[in-house]
Amino acid sequence: MSDTVISPSTVVRTRMAPSPTGEYHVGHIATLLKNYAFAKKHGGQFVLRIEDTDRERLVPGAVERIMQVIKDYGLDWDEGPAKGGPHAPYVQSERLPSYQKAAEELVAKNKAYYCFCSSERLEQNREAQRAAKIPPKYDRHCRDLTQTEVEKRLATGESYVIRLKVPDNVPVKFTDLIRGEIEVNSDVVDDQVLLKSDGFPTYHLAVVVDDHAMEISHIMRGEEWISSTPKHVLLYQAFGWKLPIFAHIPVFLNPDGRGKMSKRKGAVSARSFLDDGYLPEALLNFFMILGWARADQTEIMTLADYVREFDPQDISAKSVVFDLNKLAWINGMYLRQLSPTDLKHRLQPFLPADFPSGLLDQVLPLISERLVKLKDVADLTSFFYQPIELDRELLLKKSDLTSVLAQLTETLSVLKALTSFTLETVETKLRNLQSKRDWKKSQYFMLLRVAVTGRVATPPLFETMVVLGQGKVLERLEAAQKILEKTQSKSII
Ligand code: GLU
Repeated sequence: MSDTVISPSTVVRTRMAPSPTGEYHVGHIATLLKNYAFAKKHGGQFVLRIEDTDRERLVPGAVERIMQVIKDYGLDWDEGPAKGGPHAPYVQSERLPSYQKAAEELVAKNKAYYCFCSSERLEQNREAQRAAKIPPKYDRHCRDLTQTEVEKRLATGESYVIRLKVPDNVPVKFTDLIRGEIEVNSDVVDDQVLLKSDGFPTYHLAVVVDDHAMEISHIMRGEEWISSTPKHVLLYQAFGWKLPIFAHIPVFLNPDGRGKMSKRKGAVSARSFLDDGYLPEALLNFFMILGWARADQTEIMTLADYVREFDPQDISAKSVVFDLNKLAWINGMYLRQLSPTDLKHRLQPFLPADFPSGLLDQVLPLISERLVKLKDVADLTSFFYQPIELDRELLLKKSDLTSVLAQLTETLSVLKALTSFTLETVETKLRNLQSKRDWKKSQYFMLLRVAVTGRVATPPLFETMVVLGQGKVLERLEAAQKILEKTQSKSII
């Protein structure tokens, strides 16, 4: 593995630039983590900037939710909203004059031009191009208006946009840390709008102006932006600015391996994975190893390890599957490393409102090995305090009615006689009974498990019975007897 070459004079400044148009995606957090780690590795700064210039797609509250979820993942920014910094403000709608100034500067340098075309004219143009099966591009109708004409039309208050004057037939090149040299011909690039008629910049203008103003040295972003990069390169060149270094990170594939990860195939929002009870540190560890590996190939690592070792140049150029089995495995590893106190604390928000106080301490040793994610606590423990469903068929699955009834009757009399209901007494008595009667172990103990919990998979049987307590165990065994006698198929007890 090589190290991305950083000259000693380069201050590494990375950024994440969310648009508050909806929920933050797990892919965004994974990309943010890379930007964060790379800045930390080189003693630089990680900047958070809000790109809210698309006013039609703004979602109220999205900025706050994005900032909160980043923090809930245990990450943070050095400069940005709510923190400030030398390049404040970090919200694009608060920086409008700088984009207007930049667009006018390009017009003055003859690198951009005013365009007065109406939306009807643009639509007709697009229609004609569609009919002729040529890629839609602005037909440059206003590109060569004389200055006098432009001034006249501006003076009358005619509505306008400012477009980039894309040079004809020149190579547009940039280096991508992951994909190497990329080159396209400028003829495929549209004379894109930089400043809209409402005075707001487009994404392309604002992103370039801000990345330059904020002295961003490395831009790591999702590969869906790679087709925009030639436009940005042309803008950097038009301004006469030095290009930052780019790295376009492959998108995740759906857990089934098919297609770009999408909502239709399951959860994608960064928040939903926390809500499911994956630990933030486990999720970060999972993102670290999706498409990148340490030299020794070990998969469990701390954020500090990652900061030390991560190099964007070593990110795989291929898309990787968002492998939920791997995530579950990593989460399990992290869960088992938590101290009982920490685990209890993390489980609190996942406990149902009717969860009895004090029960967690008793059940924690029984369920902690079985927890895959924190949210599982509700399901793994519900039978301890909520009514259970007894299924007649399940009780009779491994034996006939007469034998099962006899087993329940004898078990009841043995357990009723106990004056102390402890792990030792319960286990000894029930094992003795089983061996004295020579009942098949797997059948008998499964019967008891189903009768006292309603389920076939639970924590160890005797420990579970002790936590349930003598009263509840007897009550459930009697209920099982009753439903067997009544030939009723299911019953809630
Ligand atoms: N605002 C863009 C987004 O929503 C930023 C793209 C970029 O990183 O340049 O992801």
